[in-house]
Amino acid sequence: MKYDVVVVGSGPAGSVTARFAAEAGAKVLIIERRAEVGVPVLCGEGIGQKVDAFHVLEGTRWIASKMDGARIFSPNGTKVTLAAEYAGSETGYVVYRDIFDQELARGAVKKGARLMLNTRAVGLLKKNGKIAGVQALHLNKTIDIEADVVVGADGVESRIGKWAGIQTTLKPHDLETCAQYTLANVDGTSPYCDFYLGKQIAPGGYVWVFPKGKDTVNVGIGVLASLSDSGKALRLLDKFIASHAELKSGQPLRLLSGADPVAEPIESIRDHLLLVGDAARHVDPITGGGLMLSIEGGKLAGETIGRAVEQQRFDQQFLSEYETKWKGAFGKKLHRNYVVKETLLDMEDKTLDMLADSLKDYKFEEFSTFSLIKALVTKHPSLLVKLTPLMKLARA
Ligand SMILES: Cc1cc2nc3c(=O)[nH]c(=O)nc-3n(C[C@H](O)[C@H](O)[C@H](O)COP(=O)(O)OP(=O)(O)OC[C@H]3O[C@@H](n4cnc5c(N)ncnc54)[C@H](O)[C@@H]3O)c2cc1C
Repeated sequence: MKYDVVVVGSGPAGSVTARFAAEAGAKVLIIERRAEVGVPVLCGEGIGQKVDAFHVLEGTRWIASKMDGARIFSPNGTKVTLAAEYAGSETGYVVYRDIFDQELARGAVKKGARLMLNTRAVGLLKKNGKIAGVQALHLNKTIDIEADVVVGADGVESRIGKWAGIQTTLKPHDLETCAQYTLANVDGTSPYCDFYLGKQIAPGGYVWVFPKGKDTVNVGIGVLASLSDSGKALRLLDKFIASHAELKSGQPLRLLSGADPVAEPIESIRDHLLLVGDAARHVDPITGGGLMLSIEGGKLAGETIGRAVEQQRFDQQFLSEYETKWKGAFGKKLHRNYVVKETLLDMEDKTLDMLADSLKDYKFEEFSTFSLIKALVTKHPSLLVKLTPLMKLARA
């Protein structure tokens, strides 16, 4: 088997990379260890409306509900609302993640990429010391897939980067352990995604309630691994549901557990190799959200690969175009949000209550974590002194 590009993983990062590389004329193969793209779902399924600008999803089948904003509840229940009322439009979607991933993969295949399921990468192929493809297990048979470029789109547990000598180990302090129920028999029609903070509620993380329309919601929790033990996320989630009357009647349609990196990005290129999405730690360290960044980074990676194939240049220097571009698009934001995450972790519940109280009537100009941080820094410059230079950096 010989391709220009082999993409390991058919999540959003892999499919979008494959789509743009194939569109630029590259011969692309995606390999996926699962038997079905996007299944099982491991996600809260929330994404910002910015996804529309990428034109990578057709129709509306992937949308469960449209959101008008978000509400953040501090430990004592004080509510801060970031609403479309001020942003001027809808702000995001709760999606059906299985359909969402399948639509992205369909888009890649339509542009000419090939997709192999039940195919797990088990190592890198090398020729004269250079990466030359991947070795994979397909239905228990070992196969060699030769390729000029290997894309590690293999998610939070990524092995591709490690095999290429990149430092990929995540500290427990930079990892959220998560659990989530999709609950039926509850009100799923709220136009808000809700976030609950507090050391007793979710140490180092938060609980989310994302409405999926009609009578269904996703209610999930992320707890920092360094503050967690086995089963703690689920215990705290059950406690949260039991103490919220509007959720108590819910019956689970799905229970999932997973992990989410809340780290700074790692090196994303080597000769003949790129990392995208969770594998590159392209995840917002505050929210743990990585869907939008997987699509944004995947597009940049696919375009760079397209040019690399055209010019037959697969060296790290040529591929660094991708790294320069993702750093320009969202590198500063990820660094700033990592510092914000660290600052929030240091805060006592009563400080969070005080901050929320000062913002409860604030009229946000836009719907984003940036506007929230900007408001906090403006109102509490001495408390958030560490963040002020980063705000200037992010605005530059
Ligand atoms: C509980 C939870 C809730 C979340 N909620 C949200 C949310 O609401 N909004 C949001 O934006 N983000 C959310 N995230 C994060 C989001 O799911 C990820 O950022 C996103 O899936 C990253 O996409 P990806 O393509 O990089 O990786 P993934 O979607 O993880 O895809 C990686 C793919 O690679 C495959 N793979 C792995 N290893 C191999 C191998 N060796 N060979 C072949 N295939 C392989 C996997 O099977 C998988 O299909 C959540 C994460 C968790 C755990």
